[in-house]
Amino acid sequence: MTLKELKEEARRQGYYLVKAENPYEKLKPCVICGNNRRDHFKTKDAKVAMRCTKCGFTVLGTSERAIHKKWNEECSKPKPEALQSL
Ligand SMILES: [Zn+2]
Repeated sequence: MTLKELKEEARRQGYYLVKAENPYEKLKPCVICGNNRRDHFKTKDAKVAMRCTKCGFTVLGTSERAIHKKWNEECSKPKPEALQSL
């Protein structure tokens, strides 16, 4: 059954099909040290944080999804200049 047929069949039966959000991308290794393990925790101001267990590199955000995305963005960048000696 094609997607079009599926939609038509769903409509016939009184349903709407809703496309699921993309699943999480796989997390990249830490931009600073290359470690693959992270802690998740909440900060005092109720933000969500993800922190590298080895070097402490941390990203903050308002939701798990937000920090997941931000982590991958940060870890896609070149290593920050100031941190290269760590
Ligand atoms: Zn790290």
